[in-house]
Amino acid sequence: MELYELTAHELMDKLNSGEITSEEITKSYFSRIKEKDNQIKAYISLLEEEALDKAKKVDEDRKLGKKVSKYAGIPIGIKDNICISGSKTTCGSKILENFVAPYNATVIENLNNEDMFFLGKTNMDEFAFGSSTENSAFYPTRNPWDLDRVPGGSSGGSAAAVAANMAPWALGSDTGGSIRQPSSLCGVIGFKPTYGLVSRYGLVAYASSLDQIGTITKDVTDSALLLNLIAGHDEKDSTSMNLEKKDYTLSLVNDVKGMKIGIPKEYIGKGINDEVRESVLSVAKKYEELGATIEECSFEVGKYAIGAYYIMATAEASSNLGRFDGIRYGYRTKQFNNLKDIYRNSRSEGFGAEAKRRIMLGTYVLSAGYYDAYYKKAQKVRTVINKAYNELFEKYDLLLTPVSPITAFKVGEKIDNPLEMYLADICTVPINIGGIPGMSIPCGIDSNGLPISFQLLAKPFGEETIIRAAYTYEKNFNFRENYKPTFKNSK
Ligand code: GLN
Repeated sequence: MELYELTAHELMDKLNSGEITSEEITKSYFSRIKEKDNQIKAYISLLEEEALDKAKKVDEDRKLGKKVSKYAGIPIGIKDNICISGSKTTCGSKILENFVAPYNATVIENLNNEDMFFLGKTNMDEFAFGSSTENSAFYPTRNPWDLDRVPGGSSGGSAAAVAANMAPWALGSDTGGSIRQPSSLCGVIGFKPTYGLVSRYGLVAYASSLDQIGTITKDVTDSALLLNLIAGHDEKDSTSMNLEKKDYTLSLVNDVKGMKIGIPKEYIGKGINDEVRESVLSVAKKYEELGATIEECSFEVGKYAIGAYYIMATAEASSNLGRFDGIRYGYRTKQFNNLKDIYRNSRSEGFGAEAKRRIMLGTYVLSAGYYDAYYKKAQKVRTVINKAYNELFEKYDLLLTPVSPITAFKVGEKIDNPLEMYLADICTVPINIGGIPGMSIPCGIDSNGLPISFQLLAKPFGEETIIRAAYTYEKNFNFRENYKPTFKNSK
């Protein structure tokens, strides 16, 4: 078995017992990246030199018997909207093509404190607008299971990198599904924590009230280990909660006896592909066999989620993107006679079609006369959705749904039909509106040989319950063996 095939915790064990070095791990990943990434295109930039320097330093420390963190010398992939000081942070956009971050995101500081380091920055839909990574200004990323298909998005680079063994694990961001949906389409585990659990400082904002950084890993143990590092209060992010630090690995317990799991009937009905539905229902059966109680329930207000989400998210995006004016950051047009020209031309030339669409939509729903009809209404829907979740989580420990109504679609199939693309977010966006945690876990392969996943949801800060149930599933239906990408249609 090659080093790049191992999970992060397996690498940690071997590293800490002295069986392997961090330099060996790092070289193994970069040779894998060189072999595969010309076809997958998961990375926008690589940090090879920095990574090797750090690896050698950590190996030296271990050799000298210095006390090092158990994570020391483990690499990771980082979505390109998370700032690493001194490195390019493009957000998949031409407008930030040459932007070098002057500071570290808090999550990056956390990883640095453990002497971890970065393989590179992963590809994404421009400013995280999308569900396929086709909106990247640079190139689309391909799904390692079938290179003619999308890896999902917007964290498609991170998910494809982990699935194709080009990173042991990765960070992504999730505003409406961008960690869970690409994880689902690529057959890896994606975990979006509760809003406020992980600092957003240094994450380039898409929709600040919905954005959350989370993990993409090969197994549940790695999700817990990585969440331990990134969760926690940060005074630089006023929305981060000041809660006692938890050790999520304590929830790696193989037992769901007595758990009550609800399946909202709206998510196993019309609009969900048959194979996806069958696969998710078979997960419910398995949980029942393991001693959990399964009950059908209803989340009727979920039908308003897509509409409300695309109003709130675009409204916030239009405001957050205001700062890209050709003066303060990134790209500046060469065609200008006055200040207005600089703004107009820099933005016209720098933003891609989807970013422009969202700026227009967001500005429209916030404008006088439409604010009450759209934005305010969407906020009311948010309250209603929160209430519905509260009621459900009084009855159930977890909710079980699909992640995506369909498996990976072909590159180009939906890009000209944005509405169809938005509708495919039906199972993931309500979770961000509710601010609750959600995890995507592989559970099947469809007739095209593509991964299917299920989603576990819990009440706010209920990450431990999700980890426990996901771990139990993993232990009993050892799926890692079955989730090796097939690289169909490689050239
Ligand atoms: N697909 C959704 C959107 O385009 C979610 C994206 C995300 O979570 N960043 O808004």
